[in-house]
Amino acid sequence: MTTECDRIGGINLAQGVCDTPVPEVVEAAAIEAIREGQNIYTRCDGIARLREAIAAKQQRDYGLAYDAENEVMVASGATAGLHAAAMALLNPGDEVLVFEPFYGYHVHTLKSLRVNPVLVALVEPDWHLDEDSLRAAVTPRTRAILLNTPGNPTGKIFTLPELEAVARLTIERDLFLITDEIYEYFVYDGAKHICAATLPGMRERTIVLSGFSKTFSITGWRIGYATADARWMPTMAHFHDLTYVCAPAPLQVGAAAGLEQLPPSFYAQLAADHQSKRGRLLAALKDAGMEASAPPGAYYIMAGAERLPGKTAAEKARHLLRTTGVAAVAGSAFFRQGRGENLLRFCFAKQDSELDEACDRLRKL
Ligand code: PLP
Repeated sequence: MTTECDRIGGINLAQGVCDTPVPEVVEAAAIEAIREGQNIYTRCDGIARLREAIAAKQQRDYGLAYDAENEVMVASGATAGLHAAAMALLNPGDEVLVFEPFYGYHVHTLKSLRVNPVLVALVEPDWHLDEDSLRAAVTPRTRAILLNTPGNPTGKIFTLPELEAVARLTIERDLFLITDEIYEYFVYDGAKHICAATLPGMRERTIVLSGFSKTFSITGWRIGYATADARWMPTMAHFHDLTYVCAPAPLQVGAAAGLEQLPPSFYAQLAADHQSKRGRLLAALKDAGMEASAPPGAYYIMAGAERLPGKTAAEKARHLLRTTGVAAVAGSAFFRQGRGENLLRFCFAKQDSELDEACDRLRKL
C-alpha cells in the first residue's frame, strides 16, 4: 500500500511511519555524535550510556531493576530485539502463543525461524482475553507467549487480571513471555500500561521489548532494546551481533540524550497529542460511514469497511486509495486466513496538516 500510495501521491495512513517531529535534543545529540566521530562499531549490545539510560527508565517507569551491564541490550529496533530473542531462546518446531489480531512481524519472524505461531483469538468487540482459549492452545511444544501491549492493530491494553492470567500460565508451564511494549507511552483516557515483568515471578522469564521508533518519531533510525534476566542476555546479544553487529552508533547517542533529558511532560504531551489525533480521525471515519471504537492505546484505528465495494479487505483498501487518495492496511493482514476482510487499519501518527487533509478526503467518500 505504501508503494502504491507513493506512486499516486496519496496520504499514507497505512504504515505506522510516524512522521511527527523528532525531539530537538535527540536530533542534536545524534548530529553532534556524528561530527565528534562516534561512527564506529559499538559493543553488540549497545553503548554503556544508552544501556544505563534504558535501565534507569525501566526503574523509573516500572520499578524494574536491570543491570545495565548484562541485562539490557540495545537492538536495531524492537524488531531486531524479537529476532535475537527468538534465535536465542526458541528452536525450530517450538510453538509460541500469539494473540490475534496480531502484528505481522511477530508471526513472520517466528515462521522465518521455523517456529510455529499458534494463534489465540482475542474476543470482540473489546478484544478481551479468554483464559480458557489461551490454556486450550498450550501443547507440550509450547515454549513462549508473545504479547503486544498497547497493541497493534487494535490499541488493546492488557489489563492486570489478563496479565495475571498470562503470568499464571507462563509460570505453570515454565514458558517465556515476550512482551512488545513499543507503544508504552501511547495510552489514552487515563489508561495505564502495565509491564508484565513487574508481576510476581515474571521478571526472570519475561523478555521486554521496546524502542524509540515511536516515542521519538525515529522509525528509520533503527534503535530499540530488550531488557531481560542476565541468563538470557548473552545469547540474545550474540545473535544480535551476528545479524546486525550493532545498532547505529551515533543514533544510540541521540536516543540516550532523549532518555536522559526529556521531562515527564514530554511523554504526557505525546499521549495528549495522539489522543487528539485519534479523536479527529475517529470522527472522520464515522462521517465516512466506517464505524470504529476508540482504541485505548497505540496509534491505529481498526474501522469497519462494510460499505466499501470489494470482496476482500485488500480490494476495499485499493478502492479507498483510488477514490480518496488515502491508504489504509487491509484488516486481513492481522488475522488468520478468512478473518478481517471487513476491516481496514488507519494510522493516526501523522502531522496534523496531513491528518486533517486525510480526514477531509475520507469525509468526501
Ligand atoms: N512492534 C510493533 C507492535 C509495531 O507496531 C512496530 C512498528 O510498527 C514495531 C514493533 C517496530 O519497532 P521498531 O521500529 O523498534 O523495530
